[in-house]
Amino acid sequence: MESNFNALKEQCSKVDKCPIFREGVLMNSITGESYKMIYCLKKKHEQCKRFLVSKIYNKPIPVQVLPNNFMSPEEIVKKLEQGYWDKKA
Ligand code: SF4
Repeated sequence: MESNFNALKEQCSKVDKCPIFREGVLMNSITGESYKMIYCLKKKHEQCKRFLVSKIYNKPIPVQVLPNNFMSPEEIVKKLEQGYWDKKA
């Protein structure tokens, strides 16, 4: 019981809606599972770029923005506002 509670405390609050977690969009199942194990279900979700961007950008985040994106959250938001991923989708 205690370990389940600790696991829930560590998991990302976005798992119910995030397409990366829910659907493994753009990835094969192995990569999708890796993201879940590295970020979504662990305290490291606090370093996920999608999670960080969601704190400062109040619109849907394209699935092309992956947890380990090389850009800073601010750079990602700038690209989102420029429609960068809209053109690539
Ligand atoms: S991909 Fe990021 S934002 Fe989405 S559920 Fe995983 S940790 Fe949370």
